[in-house]
Amino acid sequence: MQGLMQHWPLLCSKVIDHAAIHHARREVVSRSVEGPIHRTTYAEIRQRSLRVAKRLEREGVALGDRVATMAWNTWRHLECWYGILGLGAIYHTLNPRLFPEQIAWILRDAEDELIFVDLTFLPILEAIAPSVPSLRKVIVLTDGAHLPETNLPGAVAYEDWLAEADEDFRWREFDETTAAGLCYTSGTTGNPKGVLFSHRSNILHSFIAIQPNAMNLSSQSRAMPVVPLFHANGWGIAFSCPMVGAALVMPGPKMDGASIAELLTGERVTFSAAVPTVWLMLLDHLDRTKGALPDLERVVIGGAACPRVVTQAFETRYGVEVVHAWGMTETSPLGTLNVPKPETADLAGEALFDHKQKQGQTPFGVEMTITDDEGRAQPWDGETFGRLKVRGPAVSSGYFRGVGAECFDAEGWFDTGDVAHIDENATMQITDRAKDVIKSGGEWISSIELENLAVGHPDVAEAAVIGVPHPRWDERPLLVVVPKDGAAPTKEALLAHLEGKIARWWTPDDVVFVEAIPHTATGKIQKLELRRQFKDYRLPTV
Ligand code: ADP
Repeated sequence: MQGLMQHWPLLCSKVIDHAAIHHARREVVSRSVEGPIHRTTYAEIRQRSLRVAKRLEREGVALGDRVATMAWNTWRHLECWYGILGLGAIYHTLNPRLFPEQIAWILRDAEDELIFVDLTFLPILEAIAPSVPSLRKVIVLTDGAHLPETNLPGAVAYEDWLAEADEDFRWREFDETTAAGLCYTSGTTGNPKGVLFSHRSNILHSFIAIQPNAMNLSSQSRAMPVVPLFHANGWGIAFSCPMVGAALVMPGPKMDGASIAELLTGERVTFSAAVPTVWLMLLDHLDRTKGALPDLERVVIGGAACPRVVTQAFETRYGVEVVHAWGMTETSPLGTLNVPKPETADLAGEALFDHKQKQGQTPFGVEMTITDDEGRAQPWDGETFGRLKVRGPAVSSGYFRGVGAECFDAEGWFDTGDVAHIDENATMQITDRAKDVIKSGGEWISSIELENLAVGHPDVAEAAVIGVPHPRWDERPLLVVVPKDGAAPTKEALLAHLEGKIARWWTPDDVVFVEAIPHTATGKIQKLELRRQFKDYRLPTV
């Protein structure tokens, strides 16, 4: 027997409708690409999104078409998302930090015909446009006065283009499983893979995100997503904030410590989300300027392991709660969050910070397991590592155009490519990416754990650990260190710093000092490149 409740399709356009009616005057504040701070409201964002949809339809955009955006977090980018998806088309975010050839490849793979682009990224687009034959219209996110000379196809200023449509438009209706957004993972191995979010997955992901045991958002929140909309679905914030009527503060192109600090205090931000490198810059700035964070209550930190020093500084010096989170584009992206539980409520001091190194628990809507290479489930004892697999209604079931099928199994598990352990309290800790874990004598050594400990040394600015071939053990760890300006740490001092904190056999066989460590477009250490640099390295233990 079927239940007799209404089938109310979970469409993303309903989120902005709700915000515009129930939180009409809630502020959306952006640092514009042109410079000044811009203020608008959810009611205005909705009106302009309706115009975007109507105007796009006149461009010939229809259900299922991909429309690209290469833009910072601003009100205009948000309007584009809602306008595109309200028409049944697919917002396709491009990460401008990728290599230009990769961006061109992605544009061709997605067959984008239209792109909304910020002034900042015009040079990138001008360079690659000739190799993207599908591209026929470039809408520059600015007004006529700021539009520079360009020979890009169909180039027009967004405000002029938008002025040609009114808001007399009804959101299109379709099945909730229709695609809403497309985001390619950075593809550190092989070509990037497209993750295709649906309207339903975005809505369910937002329900997951807003709950107290996740991001804990409400109409009282003033949220600043520093994480760009082009990175992993913008961590879902474009939907979760309007869903509850949280005010939005968006940093636009400026993500340095001083600019972020200015918005955090000037706009009384209570909640923010970003990768660790952003927070390191902010904390450094606050340190130098003796700044404070009077309004900030909570930060969600993920995308890479959050260094202990960051958690400690936020919590002890600035009174800000840190929620360490793990996720990936394929999980929309929230997968786990480390939030307080009665079982861990008594932890204090170093034990609390040990616990906060973990990436946390899955909220309802995400299931996880760890398995060995043969697919056998591993115990949740906080020690045994395994491949981390997840499933849920906001987890990918496949990639765009059917690539990467080997990541998905018949029981619906998606193999994340991460290695983790899970403790008795169901708290997960990432120990590595499967391809980065160091395999020594048949056992696994966590490169992340060694890196976290190494950056805790006062003379270390950044550290990476890679496996280097070893005739007896297969691989042994090599610690690569960028010293802090003016510091000259020694190998002996660094190894002594690790002693007692790790099993003896985890101790790196050698330490090398370098000026810089290579990074990916999403700010992660590029282990592949580092392994290439050190592929002929001879360990002193060989
Ligand atoms: P990309 O793969 O394009 O860089 P993603 O955001 O999808 O972008 O990256 C997801 C990966 O980032 C995860 O599979 C994991 O390896 C890593 N990651 C995310 N959050 C954390 C975290 N808190 N700790 C350690 N690694 C993390």
